[in-house]
Amino acid sequence: MYLLNEEKGLTWAKTCSRWSDLVNFSGLRWWNRRESKREIESKIRAHAWDQYRRRIETEVRATTRLFMTLNEGKGVIEESPYLYFNSHRRQEIMDIFRLRAGFNTTSYSQNLRHLMQSTKCEKCNWINEDEMHLLNDCFLYEDDRANLLLGLEENGVLEGVIRKRFMLHEVVLYAEKFVIWMKEEHAGRFGDVDNEIKNFIYRVMKKKERNAAKQR
Ligand SMILES: [Zn+2]
Repeated sequence: MYLLNEEKGLTWAKTCSRWSDLVNFSGLRWWNRRESKREIESKIRAHAWDQYRRRIETEVRATTRLFMTLNEGKGVIEESPYLYFNSHRRQEIMDIFRLRAGFNTTSYSQNLRHLMQSTKCEKCNWINEDEMHLLNDCFLYEDDRANLLLGLEENGVLEGVIRKRFMLHEVVLYAEKFVIWMKEEHAGRFGDVDNEIKNFIYRVMKKKERNAAKQR
């Protein structure tokens, strides 16, 4: 099939030649066998995909930024600020992501996945320990919230957050309206605010973990 194409000078033959130069399987003309065009093409595709993966892995090793926004090699799908600030804080990035996705260690989420009998908060017995309860309400994290508000105040955004009536979970989980507002009015402080938010997430998740261990 290849030879036939080559003789007639078809484009597909040119593709094969180009790839054979790039690939060079120990000098073997790996495509010059009795294989159908489809078989060879699928090989080329697999190889191209492999090359692409390798290139991406090398280029973005230093940062999680691209890596976390890649969707099956189709390109960047989303670039929320919680991903690109402090890319070394992978644990907090993951915690935020899981809280946003509703796939996390709250009783509500665990109960949905049949990992927990009840949806109750183990600390205060509120009927649902979901993301909202964890971030906005549960008394266990009261001082962490106070700390976060202090941090927001130090960065000059607390007043705006109150004026805009953002709830704490909207700030901490990077709700779209919060992100837009930050970009418009406090773009220069976003990095510092992000740092405060990730400190908060770190403290809350650690405390939650410790508390859960105590209950067991
Ligand atoms: Zn609670």
